[in-house]
Amino acid sequence: MWVVPESEIAGLMTPEAAFQAVEAVFASMARDQAYNFPVIREAIGHEEALYGFKGGFDRGGLNLGLKAGGYWPHNQKHGLINHQSTVFLFDADTGRVAAAVGGNLLTALRTAAASAISIKYLAPEGAQVLGMVGAGHQAQFQLRAAAASGRFTRVLGWNPHPEMLERLAGTAAELGLPFEAVELDRLGAEADVIISITSAFSPLLLDGHVKGPTHIAAMGTDTKGKQELDPALVARARLFTDEIAQSVSIGEFQHAFGAKSISDSDITAIGRVITGDHEGRGNAEITIFDGTGVGLQDLAVAAAAVDLARREGKAQKVEI
Ligand code: NAD
Repeated sequence: MWVVPESEIAGLMTPEAAFQAVEAVFASMARDQAYNFPVIREAIGHEEALYGFKGGFDRGGLNLGLKAGGYWPHNQKHGLINHQSTVFLFDADTGRVAAAVGGNLLTALRTAAASAISIKYLAPEGAQVLGMVGAGHQAQFQLRAAAASGRFTRVLGWNPHPEMLERLAGTAAELGLPFEAVELDRLGAEADVIISITSAFSPLLLDGHVKGPTHIAAMGTDTKGKQELDPALVARARLFTDEIAQSVSIGEFQHAFGAKSISDSDITAIGRVITGDHEGRGNAEITIFDGTGVGLQDLAVAAAAVDLARREGKAQKVEI
């Protein structure tokens, strides 16, 4: 099997490579060539950790496997980040394990790629102003991937903990984009595209905040109970997601779905827009992409990382 250590990923994977891999697998999902396995997530009763698996199979790319890992809240004492994961790929012809790939940076890259893909297909025409709600670890990757589209001329930022915005401003400066910290009503009125990426458990962005043609990539809600958007905002928008079943159970749409103000037939898988089977934004004023994070995204970027690592002599071969 091939081993690609976490330490090699930064030198191998770019936001562009992640974008291509994730766009291809979203299209495969829409063609029913790829499917995600049920997610396992368990509180293991040790170190307050949440551990689980996200897996799937893409018959198109022949990517089979899973990402194993989770959240260890006390990892600082070990000098490690709290989110830890590893992707295991298997040979789809034989079932033999094919690769083990460090999954931490890949998770941030594949999550940012998903919102960037939603921006490519759903942003209002002429969109120039990006609004960032959130300023944690993921936010900087989200900003970089969105900026790679080349369409944004300035960035507005808001975060429940304002002191964290300085780091995001630094990322914007590196990208050559003017950055301004603002209140949510200004962000919602001026931004053409909004990315929300916080660990909130109650709505931050309210219906009254968002004005004019806007695309919102809601990326923070990946667990039951988390919530970033006002359900009234969700109810008046055209809705897209990576996987409908996940969006109504653990994604942002769980709340409006639970309140019966939307049904699953109101939600379109983004892959259908990529394959040209759905018009996308059409004449909708507001579009929302609920990026819940699916196992197939992890497999797609891990397989791309293995290819790059083998080409550059950075993959280690191990017999097991
Ligand atoms: P982080 O801990 O680095 O940052 C947390 C962010 O949420 C900050 O902006 C912080 O100010 C804000 N926040 C913290 N507690 C809050 C609260 N109680 N209410 C409102 N805001 C709060 O986390 P991160 O790694 O940047 O992850 C952000 C979110 O994205 C998490 O919910 C994480 O689970 C989620 N995530 C989603 C995917 C996906 O595929 N959709 C992938 C990775 C992470």
